Amino acid sequence: MMFETWWLLALPLVFGLGWMAARFDLRQLISEQGALPRSYFKGLNFLLNEQPDQAIDAFVEVARLDPETTELHFALGALFRRRGETERAIRVHQNLATRPDLPEPEREHALYELGQDYLRAGLLDRAEESLRRLMSGPYAASAKRVLLELYEVEKEWLKAIDAARELQTLEQKDYRVQIAQFCCELAQDALQKKKPEDAIAWLGRAREENPANVRAPILLGDVAAAAGDLPGALQHWLAIESQDAAYLPLVADRVVKAYGALGEQGKALDWLRGLLKGNLAPELLDTAYKTELEVNGPEGATALMREQLRRQPSLLALTRYFEAQAAGQAADGTGAPDAQSQETAAIRDLLQLRTRNLARYTCRECGFRARLFYWQCPGCNRWETYAPRRSEALG
Ligand SMILES: [Zn+2]
Repeated sequence: MMFETWWLLALPLVFGLGWMAARFDLRQLISEQGALPRSYFKGLNFLLNEQPDQAIDAFVEVARLDPETTELHFALGALFRRRGETERAIRVHQNLATRPDLPEPEREHALYELGQDYLRAGLLDRAEESLRRLMSGPYAASAKRVLLELYEVEKEWLKAIDAARELQTLEQKDYRVQIAQFCCELAQDALQKKKPEDAIAWLGRAREENPANVRAPILLGDVAAAAGDLPGALQHWLAIESQDAAYLPLVADRVVKAYGALGEQGKALDWLRGLLKGNLAPELLDTAYKTELEVNGPEGATALMREQLRRQPSLLALTRYFEAQAAGQAADGTGAPDAQSQETAAIRDLLQLRTRNLARYTCRECGFRARLFYWQCPGCNRWETYAPRRSEALG
């Protein structure tokens, strides 16, 4: 009994000690806070309230009072850059990078930030110079990533290949898709400069790097076509069907043109009609429609679209159906247009208005939508993020 009472007395004592310890911590915190200038908290408050202008003013004041606080300078530099004030960001980071008393890791950090400032300011040479000084150390991989971005902007594909290879070992990440695309870019340059052998060599390397790359066979076809070897070109393009059929619509117009130049438009039509029965139909509809119209006139095109509407109804097929009908009626009509053809033309116009901007390629990384197909997204600069399939979105 006595024992239990003793413990009951001890309990408040333990709580009391805890309270004193907490108070001691609080006091210490308050005294530490006293060492920080008021402007620091003012700046922090502005930042939290998303008032970066006022935050910058407050932090500049702190930096003036205490020039030793490197963290604050880094924070300021980042704020300046984010707000597009690259000149001020460059000044802050330059000061840090040239400070003799700065420890090596922080100097490297400053160089890395400076490289990004220059890149943002469009001073690509200087950005490269700053980042290339970070070949080893904790910022090596990050600097290399920014350098790769820079080489892509500059279209320095050879340097981009080297940087991607180094990143592959530094980060243990796969860059083969990108490297194959850089080889394709070099091949395209060579093709434009009328150096087909160089182009073929680069495309061979692209395929070695990434056998799934579809741009290489497309470009190999282009090289053959440029040399006048249309059967060879067709062979490359049609082979895409066995590699990744989803990309066939990207070469459909090229295939039709090549068959046309060889006087074999019938073969092009057979090829397209066959594909319209599969799941690539929405992508190939326009090419098939145009080819049919050219070869068999409005009647043939109307029949093809009617067949397509029965098989796979879509707004686009309906639009082309009325276009073909209106074209047929216009060709038949000798005098003034009758009521029926006026009606057909009105429906066609309405549908055309509705479907004009319907189909768009969409980047799966950033959602950027584009009328043209891109291997590198203009929105987020990533490679092969567009599926070769356009999505229909009714506004
Ligand atoms: Zn994107």
